[in-house]
Amino acid sequence: MSLTSLVLVINCGSSSLKFSAIPRNEGAPLLSGLAEKLGLEDACITFKDAAGHKTTALLAEPNHHSALKALFAKLANLGLLPHVCAIGHRVAHGGSDFKHSVLITASVIARIRELSALAPLHNPANLTGIEVALTLLPELPQVAVFDTAFHQTLPPAAYTYAIPLTYQQKYHVRRYGFHGTSHRFIAAEAIVRLNLDPANHGILIAHLGNGSSVCAVKNGKSVDTSMGMTPLEGLVMGTRCGDLDFGAAAYIARCTGQTIESLYKMVNNDSGLFGLSGISSDCRTLQEARSNGNPRATLAIDVMVHRLARHLGAHLASLHRFDALIFTGGIGENSALIRELTAQRLAVFGVHLDAAKNAKIFAGREGVISLPGSPIVAVIPTNEEKMIAQDAATISSALSAVV
Ligand code: ADP
Repeated sequence: MSLTSLVLVINCGSSSLKFSAIPRNEGAPLLSGLAEKLGLEDACITFKDAAGHKTTALLAEPNHHSALKALFAKLANLGLLPHVCAIGHRVAHGGSDFKHSVLITASVIARIRELSALAPLHNPANLTGIEVALTLLPELPQVAVFDTAFHQTLPPAAYTYAIPLTYQQKYHVRRYGFHGTSHRFIAAEAIVRLNLDPANHGILIAHLGNGSSVCAVKNGKSVDTSMGMTPLEGLVMGTRCGDLDFGAAAYIARCTGQTIESLYKMVNNDSGLFGLSGISSDCRTLQEARSNGNPRATLAIDVMVHRLARHLGAHLASLHRFDALIFTGGIGENSALIRELTAQRLAVFGVHLDAAKNAKIFAGREGVISLPGSPIVAVIPTNEEKMIAQDAATISSALSAVV
């Protein structure tokens, strides 16, 4: 195999670890996969090779250390480990400190740890991945890529909550936004694929997956986004409620005697498509139930589409012009139904889909799905791993240039 160098991308969650080894100069992953059920007895790791063949093995111990050891052993077995030149880690929350991806140093680790207060479910897990990788492969440059970084260009009017300002000043309570790596990737791809003027364009991106967010991009920069201080605000998601009147939450607490922690779990884990339908958080399952006439699945999809259209309309007001709406993420890339229902709601902005083109875009395909004369509506598959790999490669090569 003729190989230059590889970047290893690691996305470490509390009970899972996703990875992919990507050639530095473009191309599909040579190895990717997932370690899951970390913390449980049957923790396992699944590898997918370049040809798409999968193998699964139980982990020696059910923890992140064992998962990364198994991954590095696999890379060594395949002769790939010596080619790995950098590791890129996905990190959920970079607060206001990290406006770009950075080389991981002791002080970066300390800051990510402090920022765990803002993302208690995500940053500690991301840190575990970083620390274990640094222990096992200390000689490799490792780079942190933050979900929040792309949104650091939001103006104060867009990121400030209308509560006493002291909470922002003392406790950093403000909107940060997430999915930044995906929005940044799509924003850059859109310029090339839709032939936009890099210095003068306005686009909306709808990243719709289990977690979903909208982003308004003006001349390449994020100027508004639907997620807030945490990934809970905004759209209706798989299990998250998105926007909710705080008065309603306080009322539920009073009626049921639930604690803040219990309510927080309810709005994050038991709500959204799952809470509305009572069936599933998975859009595919709900579409099927809806087509069989299930009223709760129908309501769940209607509420999701209503909220999405409302946010897209609102985000338009953060742009100086409207060139394109881009759908991405598992739902955005695959669901012609959600795209069609959303576009119908946006007809007031001149948006009209070509039904035949819309129906043909799924499973990784991309293309324009709007009618001529309408603002462009397009589907572009996201690739956060590629973006993380690019950042890790760029930052590590700048480092070797200095050394
Ligand atoms: P995550 O946010 O976890 O990365 P994904 O981007 O993979 O999630 O999106 C998962 C969502 O995409 C699920 O709700 C799933 O049902 C939905 N999805 C995947 N394929 C289809 C499809 N063909 N039609 C409708 N929804 C789909």
